[in-house]
Amino acid sequence: MALTPDRVLDALRTVRDPDLGKDLVTLGMVKRHDVEGDRVLVTVELTTPACPMKDRIRGDIEAAVQTAADEVGHPISGTEVEFTADVRRPNQKLGESPLPGVRQIVAVGAGKGGVGKSTIAVNLAVGLARHGARVGLLDGDIYGPSLPTMLGLGDVQTVARGSMLMPFETHGIKSMTIGKLVEEDKALVWRGPMAHGAFKQLAMQTEWGELDYLIVDLPPGTGDVPLTLAQLLPLSGAIVVCTPQRVAQDDARRAVRMFENLGIEVLGIVENMSHFVGDDGKEYDLFGRGGAEVLAQTMGLPFLGGVPITPALRKNSDSGNPTANWDDPALAAAFDALVTHAASRISIAAAQGKYQMPTISVS
Ligand code: ADP
Repeated sequence: MALTPDRVLDALRTVRDPDLGKDLVTLGMVKRHDVEGDRVLVTVELTTPACPMKDRIRGDIEAAVQTAADEVGHPISGTEVEFTADVRRPNQKLGESPLPGVRQIVAVGAGKGGVGKSTIAVNLAVGLARHGARVGLLDGDIYGPSLPTMLGLGDVQTVARGSMLMPFETHGIKSMTIGKLVEEDKALVWRGPMAHGAFKQLAMQTEWGELDYLIVDLPPGTGDVPLTLAQLLPLSGAIVVCTPQRVAQDDARRAVRMFENLGIEVLGIVENMSHFVGDDGKEYDLFGRGGAEVLAQTMGLPFLGGVPITPALRKNSDSGNPTANWDDPALAAAFDALVTHAASRISIAAAQGKYQMPTISVS
């Protein structure tokens, strides 16, 4: 008997996406299933180009197809699995989104300043783009914008077309920051309604085009901007950045509660400055490595990964060159683990259809 495309499809019904918990056929991920002589050709469309499960899915497909081929006695040379990706648009159900070209909007927040929230937001955005995603980064930290420095926007021209601002394009991502529009000192004294208005304009009057992910770097703490963001845009969820120390965990806990009160799902916690890596490559545990992971566990939240303190990361951030972080093997590994884990949590949240326009409850 011959191995037919239908039998290949049946075999693929036994392969589950480990994150989404259903089989590839039910999830609509199989885009091609052909047999050409002794070659089997399968194309799977993932829900994110930064999927950490590619190798596992490939292995499971090869095994399932081989079993099907053996059952009918059809010798095959192997299965050629090709991956494509289409980041789903979970916000469709909500009706008209004010940013219809943007598929997933993710906020990055922290309980207090200086924990590396902007550093994580920048590298998450650049890391997703390195996997082939179309990414935007909105500097929501209008009181202390750091994107001009961290993305090296110093000499980049600000361009407006009509009432719309063109996003900056560096390091493979689009970005917008108030830091390029007003003098730094002015942004710092903005309060309440002005901050609300400024953030809204930045989000809505930037020509983002089609984006898979829009990452929003929020101001630290629990102020007006998260509230504005939650009321304005359908968020996929929030990521909370924390350092390992006990006191930092208390602040992070408050940030988690704030998102929950705003009806925003917390996708996970990141531990920044997890440990120190010296120029000699040696690791030093400065702040009590693992503290944020314990916090995530006690709050029942996913832990998305830890990023070490390294002189290279500080230097690359100050010189506006996040791409260089991928030249450093330890940093590249830490950021890639974080990026793929975050991407998979976003896909899972999208598949579970938890999206709602937030209902605000003030307690
Ligand atoms: P936040 O957004 O929480 O205020 P930033 O991301 O602006 O914090 O980081 C504050 C400073 O610490 C920046 O100078 C940044 O380069 C540095 N920094 C952040 N994380 C690290 C790290 N893991 N290793 C080295 N320097 C870091």
